[in-house]
Amino acid sequence: MPQNVTQKIISSHLVSGNMSAGSEIELRIDQTLTQDATGTMACLQFEALGVDRVKTDLSVSYVDHNTLQMGFRNPDDHRYLKTVAEKYGMVFSPAGTGICHQLHLENFGKPGATLVGSDSHTPTAGGLGSLAMGAGGLSVALAMAGEPYTITMPKVVRVYLEGELTGWASAKDVILHLLGKLTVKGGVGKVFEYAGPGVASLSVPERAVITNMGAELGATTSIFPSDENTREFLTRMDRPQDWTELVADEGAAYDEEIRITLNDLEPLAAKPHMPDQVVTVASLAGTKVNQVAIGSCTNSSYADLASVANLFAGKHVKFETDTLISPGSKQVLKMLTREGLLENIIDSGARLLECSCGPCIGMGGSPVSEGVSVRTFNRNFEGRSGTKDAQVYLVSPLTAAMAALHGEFTDPATWGKAPQVPVLPDTIPSIRDQFIFPPEDGSAVEVVRGPNIVPLEQFAAVDADIEANVLIVAEDNITTDHIMPAGAVITALRSNVPAISEHVFERMDASFATRAKSITNGIIVAGENYGQGSSREHAALAPRHLGVRAVVAKSFARIHRANLVNFGILPLMLVDKEAYAEFAQEQSVTIPALALKPGEPVELVLQTGSRVSVTNDLTQKELDIIRAGGLLNYVRFSKRR
Ligand code: SF4
Repeated sequence: MPQNVTQKIISSHLVSGNMSAGSEIELRIDQTLTQDATGTMACLQFEALGVDRVKTDLSVSYVDHNTLQMGFRNPDDHRYLKTVAEKYGMVFSPAGTGICHQLHLENFGKPGATLVGSDSHTPTAGGLGSLAMGAGGLSVALAMAGEPYTITMPKVVRVYLEGELTGWASAKDVILHLLGKLTVKGGVGKVFEYAGPGVASLSVPERAVITNMGAELGATTSIFPSDENTREFLTRMDRPQDWTELVADEGAAYDEEIRITLNDLEPLAAKPHMPDQVVTVASLAGTKVNQVAIGSCTNSSYADLASVANLFAGKHVKFETDTLISPGSKQVLKMLTREGLLENIIDSGARLLECSCGPCIGMGGSPVSEGVSVRTFNRNFEGRSGTKDAQVYLVSPLTAAMAALHGEFTDPATWGKAPQVPVLPDTIPSIRDQFIFPPEDGSAVEVVRGPNIVPLEQFAAVDADIEANVLIVAEDNITTDHIMPAGAVITALRSNVPAISEHVFERMDASFATRAKSITNGIIVAGENYGQGSSREHAALAPRHLGVRAVVAKSFARIHRANLVNFGILPLMLVDKEAYAEFAQEQSVTIPALALKPGEPVELVLQTGSRVSVTNDLTQKELDIIRAGGLLNYVRFSKRR
């Protein structure tokens, strides 16, 4: 059977399952990446698995998010990550070296490889022909331990590109066009595989802009074939040996097809506060711009910044438009320096920032109150910039540079002749010596933990029925923010489960943690859709630390339900939703844990003597995971290993 690129990579990495869309499949993982904001938890989880050394071909630990040294916690995290990397065999990329996805593209990504990363923009490496997926920290820890990665076999959408970009349109406008058409939910359960004659007109960094923002479509990932342009890029990056050709077979089948004629595209912008609120830049002409920010893992390659530097030559940005530039890597910065382009940026009045995520997550560079910020980034959610009432627009580097020079959006029809896309210089400086490669044998390396880095505890297996007390009776639509508040608490205490647990449910019930610690086992009772919102693992991990053994709800949000299973908490559903009224705080309940079978109801016995029927939608494997005390224990002790 002829195969498309996605099917070729999946079939060559398939551990179990069948490749029909919607089936559960397990994949062998070649590479992992972590960044510091999620990496500390992933590393704590990896350590808890008790494996001597990472089992992947390559695992890289990048520090790019919280690079500003505010207080002791960030530098302590960096030191912990560095020592874990040395001990267990990961490459370590210190703060300031660059943004994980740009660095991975330049230094490590490979056509045909599978990559999972604890960052949603991991699909950037799809620009090189990797099958690259964002995942939770625990999934990445398991992949580092050699466990397969489980996904639902995606549908494969062929995005057929014809013609080539003309005028001021750029790669960013390709993905903004798709976002405008498909919306932020349009890619769920799908891989976007690019094909057609237009592919050859795009360089690898341009392709990576498109695959990076495939994440905003909600896609499993996005991928380009590996062709002569890929070989050229890898050769320039001094790793021609990493190239392999990877193209779809003649006659390969796809589940869906979208056609884009590149010549038809014009400069686009995503308006506040969603990446799919796409309009033409021309329609925004006259809108004053307070800030321009150029960089992020989406648009910080040499070509992106060189095109900006060329536009800035001999000109000055408007003083009322604060202009920030973050190169994606030290290699990009060195190329700009060598080519004399850095001077254009400095002379233009723009501010040069560290090679890191920076303003993308409000780590410096927040806009003024109610300010309009024009960014080359990938997300413009309300408040993400660090300024709650800022109006953030997402655009290409060319559009951003023109906004900086004019202090407002202007019509691209007035910009004159469009410049050529800069090509990589003939000689490219290496930054290989900036990475710390692990020793062959790291067994003597001591992992250094600051006071805020606390090893994960091992939760007890379920070997008896559970006597527990109701800790809270919560309403419908409880979010992960209600359970575990986002923001300062997560940022500061993400590696310290005992400390972060003090904040569980604090927005609803300040005494929850104290009450939970005063008893042995707890139950949370809730209404419909319990755990909606973000995928944060702490919303299950911290309650489990406090002794929560089960959540009895009318229904569960999908991702949080999976997190409950992963950390050994039973998600039980009321058979009769009216029975919710039977529960009261502090009441004792007996859970017949040993009698539980997949999909079969059991009766909880309440202190009042009444019996409440609950059921579950667990598979046998999920039930085994909970009985083992969570996924870490299951993997560690399972007969599979
Ligand atoms: Fe995430 Fe922004 Fe960093 Fe990219 S640049 S990895 S989107 S924080």
